[in-house]
Amino acid sequence: MQLSSVRSAVEQLLLPAECLLCHALLGPRDAARIVCPLCRQRWRAVRGPWCERCGQPEPHFGPCRLCAEWPAALTRVRSAVWLDDGARPAVHGLKYGRLARIADDLAAAMVPLRPSTDGPSFLIPIPLAPKRLRERGYNQSEMLARALARQWRIPVVVDVLVRTRETPTQTALTPETRLANVAGAFRASARAAGALTPGWQPGVNKPWPHLVLVDDVFTTGATLAEAARALEQAGARTIYGVTFGRAVIPNFT
Ligand SMILES: [Zn+2]
Ligand SMILES: [Zn+2]
Repeated sequence: MQLSSVRSAVEQLLLPAECLLCHALLGPRDAARIVCPLCRQRWRAVRGPWCERCGQPEPHFGPCRLCAEWPAALTRVRSAVWLDDGARPAVHGLKYGRLARIADDLAAAMVPLRPSTDGPSFLIPIPLAPKRLRERGYNQSEMLARALARQWRIPVVVDVLVRTRETPTQTALTPETRLANVAGAFRASARAAGALTPGWQPGVNKPWPHLVLVDDVFTTGATLAEAARALEQAGARTIYGVTFGRAVIPNFT
């Protein structure tokens, strides 16, 4: 039995069956849930028309500024819902509530984002720096990726991407400043990724499998872009990104 399933079994025993967000009692049908159907219905799906690459529905003229500086390998990023007052407490619950089960509710909203890939693919959660991981005790993006892996039946790998430093909280920065803010925050292990490819050996130039980066929130995409840059430098050629929430950013033009 995995630690996460032990954890959710314990949660089910200890926690009253009420919605984390509105505290309404959960019916027997929703006993495995942590957010009630009504609260989940309040989450506003991010919809097109959008930039085909970064999935930002803002109307823009000419090239999209949000994804202009992204590494070429990061070809498509999508988010499930807008990070408004309805969805923010759910992300907060995932980040600080230590509730493994909430990841299943968030992942359920992300199911339609599944990229159509040919060939093998892997989910890579955005890692925390080791110090932050020790403080928090778990990586919320990994929890989300594992919940998503159960839905999509795509395996999760965690040793391919390493965070070398934690980045300062990013508030009210332009996309360009945010990119500078996370520059060099990730390192990728070609050997770890190579181990995902059958027959791979050091020095052999085999194409990488498709990678899907998983994060809880997309603000300007700077974190995903920087993680993708590290993976691209190590040899990855096709990287997708999926997040549960997308921040409503103030007009940065
Ligand atoms: Zn509720
Ligand atoms: Zn774009």
